[in-house]
Amino acid sequence: MKIRTKIAIQFSIIVASILAIFSIAIYLLSENYRQKEFYNSLRDRAVTTARLLIKEPQIDRQLLKVIDKNTLSTLYPAQVLVFNDSNQVAYYNYEADTIYYSPELLNRIRNSRYIETTFSNKQVVGTMYQDTLNQNYLVLAQAEDIYGKQKLENIMDTMVVGYLGAVLLTVLLGFFFAGSSLKPISKINDEISLITAYDLSKKLDTGNNKDEIATLAVNFNEMLSRLNQSFELQKSFVSNASHELRTPLAAVKSEIQVALQNDRTPEEYRTVLETLLSDNQRLIKLTNGLLELAKSESNQQIALNDLIRVDEILFKIQEEMQHTHKDYRVNIDFEEIPDDINWVTVKGKTALLKTVLSNLIDNACKYSDNKTADVIINSNSESCIVSITDTGIGIPTDEIKNVFVPFYRSKNATSYTGSGIGLSICQRIVKVLNGKISVQSEIGAGSTFTVEIPHV
Ligand code: ADP
Repeated sequence: MKIRTKIAIQFSIIVASILAIFSIAIYLLSENYRQKEFYNSLRDRAVTTARLLIKEPQIDRQLLKVIDKNTLSTLYPAQVLVFNDSNQVAYYNYEADTIYYSPELLNRIRNSRYIETTFSNKQVVGTMYQDTLNQNYLVLAQAEDIYGKQKLENIMDTMVVGYLGAVLLTVLLGFFFAGSSLKPISKINDEISLITAYDLSKKLDTGNNKDEIATLAVNFNEMLSRLNQSFELQKSFVSNASHELRTPLAAVKSEIQVALQNDRTPEEYRTVLETLLSDNQRLIKLTNGLLELAKSESNQQIALNDLIRVDEILFKIQEEMQHTHKDYRVNIDFEEIPDDINWVTVKGKTALLKTVLSNLIDNACKYSDNKTADVIINSNSESCIVSITDTGIGIPTDEIKNVFVPFYRSKNATSYTGSGIGLSICQRIVKVLNGKISVQSEIGAGSTFTVEIPHV
């Protein structure tokens, strides 16, 4: 069911129910007032008629009826019976047998002194009356409130017609207002259907910029921008990655072609194979880097439960580095030995933190002539801070902001092997670990990369 229909129906049901409750309440209250009013009149009428009958016993009943008929009374025809002490009819204005009564009813009236009841469609009033000679009489009167009932029926008819009209009007207005309030959403729907994955630069009209629908459009536009940005990044990532892979593969191909052009001595073949092996290692490293980058994207959901001693992991990296690169030197020191071991313990994933620190140490050694990385461990009340400093080639000031962009390599680094993805991996992992990474560098003087991770 369409939201418009749903809103209109719900709105109509609510209004119809409220109107129905009000109408029923008005009807019941009117009926109650009518009855009360009629009982009061009937009582006055009973006493007046009884007084006339008792005072003037010789009064002609026919005359009383004529008076009744010619009175502009709403009680017509009111039948009145007057009983003496021994429950015998003493006076009456109508034939006694046309009036309902029972000894039990008379006793109840004598006990309560006044009673209101109904019989068939008539209202009945019973009361005690004392004449001037202190003689007690019981007066019983009954009549049908024809005029009052007619009035109530008219009210009822008016209410039914009014109710149906109001409900019909509510349904029509409900549809109209629901339609006009949902119009901007339909407009947004039409606009969204025109946006394709190939054209995320399109934007929705944000209307008056004030209401909830404008906020929805603004949020949707922001989401489109983020999607567009990530699509663009992905596109440039794929083209950069294929370019990076193609270069060593093309080199391998031409090396093999050159080697096959002539017969070679075993030493020459060995040299070619050694070059191929080094190219192959470069390719493996690059592919691993790409894999790491892809993994760091999906690391957002992984559980970070390892309690990692940062100093221990650094010493492990130092040891491994000395095995793989005999010429690298890694110096590790504490700025200040912490009193509490927790200040150098962070929560995360050991393998991830190791990737970050080894990448930075590897870069420091790679980009400096003395192949040395100075690692300082420090901590404050919130984080454990590791800074890796080298006295290498440094990064040109205007390029520092780009070094974390995938595949970016500074101009002065092109003579060094690398693919430009290590730092982007580091930045993403540090983000996953809720930390920060920053760099300070001066061309020709060296660089310091600083990683801060909240400690336990
Ligand atoms: P790679 O080292 O494979 O090129 P990285 O992502 O690790 O890729 O680094 C990106 C770029 O940042 C490098 O190409 C280099 O220009 C610069 N860079 C990183 N670390 C250093 C460093 N310690 N000294 C000088 N330049 C650096």
